[in-house]
Parts: sequence; C-alpha cells; structure tokens
Amino acid sequence: MNQADPLTERQEYLIGGFAELSCARCAALVRVRKSSPQQTSVQWTTRSARQCPTLTADARPHPLVPTCPDLRTSIQWAVRTGRLEVP
Ligand SMILES: [Zn+2]
Repeated sequence: MNQADPLTERQEYLIGGFAELSCARCAALVRVRKSSPQQTSVQWTTRSARQCPTLTADARPHPLVPTCPDLRTSIQWAVRTGRLEVP
C-alpha cells in the first residue's frame, strides 16, 4: 500500500499558500503563491489557460511561469493591496 498518496500531496500543495487571482484583462482564474519577493508560482487550470488570449496565442503555457503580462500586473496589484502574502 502506498503511504503517501501523490494525489493528496498535490492537492495540499495546491491549496497551501495559494491565493486565487483573476487576470484583469481576460478574467482567467489562477492560483498564485509568492515563495519570496522574487519568486512567484502560478497554477493555471486547463480552463483558465484557454481563456487567456496571451496564453492561447503563445501555445505552450508553463504551469509555474506567469506568461500573461496582464496577470503579472494583477499579481503586483494583489501584493500591494495585501491580497497576496509575501514571506
Ligand atoms: Zn490574461
């Protein structure tokens, strides 16, 4: 029997420390987490990746890189207003 269920671990990782944010331009909903002032993790769902025109134009979204510039602005705004915690 597996003691560490990979699915459970993944779900905990997704929830722990992540805040839900939507892109100001395309309204794609993503999960964002700051692990340090310089490092940002962005979780795109399949639906949000399809919703963002920048990502669909770009073809290959990387799950951990905020490739949409509008989303980047939204993240900066969330940090400034305290919606997103920076350790
Ligand atoms: Zn976008």
